[in-house]
Amino acid sequence: MATELALTEVAAGVFELRLPIPFEDGLVNVFLFTDGKHTDLLDCGMNADESLAAIKRALEHLGSRRLRRLVVTHIHPDHYGAAGIFAGPGLADLYIHRLEVPLVHPRYVELEHLVEEVRNYLLVNGVPAEEADVLSNSQRALSEVVKTAEPSVQLDGAEHIEMGRHSLRVEWTPGHSPGHICLYSATEGLLFAGDHILPELSPNIGLHPQSTPDPLHDYLDGLMRMAAHQPKVVLPAHGRPFSDAPSRVDALVSHHQRRLDQIVEILVRNEEKTGWQVALDLWGPRDNLYEKRLALQEGLAHLQALAVEGRVIKSVTPASVRWQPA
Ligand SMILES: [Zn+2]
Repeated sequence: MATELALTEVAAGVFELRLPIPFEDGLVNVFLFTDGKHTDLLDCGMNADESLAAIKRALEHLGSRRLRRLVVTHIHPDHYGAAGIFAGPGLADLYIHRLEVPLVHPRYVELEHLVEEVRNYLLVNGVPAEEADVLSNSQRALSEVVKTAEPSVQLDGAEHIEMGRHSLRVEWTPGHSPGHICLYSATEGLLFAGDHILPELSPNIGLHPQSTPDPLHDYLDGLMRMAAHQPKVVLPAHGRPFSDAPSRVDALVSHHQRRLDQIVEILVRNEEKTGWQVALDLWGPRDNLYEKRLALQEGLAHLQALAVEGRVIKSVTPASVRWQPA
């Protein structure tokens, strides 16, 4: 089945390719940068036949003899899954932020330790044992659509990378993932935003064993820094390109501000709640397991931000993590 190639030139020598995501009805946008000889790729979709075929056809279509660089915004499967197909010895060089590197092996290669760590994290945050088993095991399926690769370059942020004919600055934007990066061209006002700023969705910001310790503040800080660039065009990994970054950032910031206030209202003085109870109060019971886990992680990221701000008291023992108003 040869579906039509969803390849659009979004700037001189920069092509957006929209790839299907197996198990989901959404699409992920990856970007090809060509200088006539080489092609460089930003994100690579999942390791799945239809997606791989689309990238190969796009490279042929651009008359590219060689894929030179693969830069990955973060190691979630829809952005990084095919890394091991396109990058490695004799293939493209993989560029990735160094805080993403240690997440790869436990998440996709040797899962047992992380499955156990996640199970414990779910239990101490109030998830019933039966659901904790199912939820902690659910990540096994993801490793099937990911082929890992060793990075050739580990980024800190603030580097300039040649992508096709463009020089792009690495913008470290932690929150959605610890080493999430955007790429920015100041001369052209182009911001390749990955999952950091999406036009329709608020990206999941979660506190979990592989997150930064205060991911919501990290995320909000990154939003302000990207808005300050006042990019002409934002090219997101999901959804269509858009121009008014500051007003999208405003909307995302107020969404989180509202949620923080909502959580403070849910908490009752002198009564400790688990993250799971707060997530259930906020979002109600969910049938979809994956959504349940995202809700817990998102609730915990907000609780943690409130604790850091001193609005909430966080108490921990080996058996539980609990929250109450300050
Ligand atoms: Zn993501």
